Amino acid sequence: MRKWGAKKRRPCSACGKPTKLVKPTGIDNGLCSYCNKSNYQIRHVNMLRDNNRLLENENALIRRQIDELLLELSANRAG
Ligand SMILES: [Zn+2]
Repeated sequence: MRKWGAKKRRPCSACGKPTKLVKPTGIDNGLCSYCNKSNYQIRHVNMLRDNNRLLENENALIRRQIDELLLELSANRAG
């Protein structure tokens, strides 16, 4: 039977590869360094997407205000 050594190596919870203990202590989410990296990238992409969504909402708000102004203008012209 093989000994695991002092530090426990658990398989990555995402891909099943044995996790390398290269990550700093304190970070223990059960992911290998590769999945940790891709996890970080996904989070980064999600963050960018959220920012974009906020911008879109802002644009929609501004567009609505412009529409209202245009409506007002055309109503004034008609009246
Ligand atoms: Zn992994």
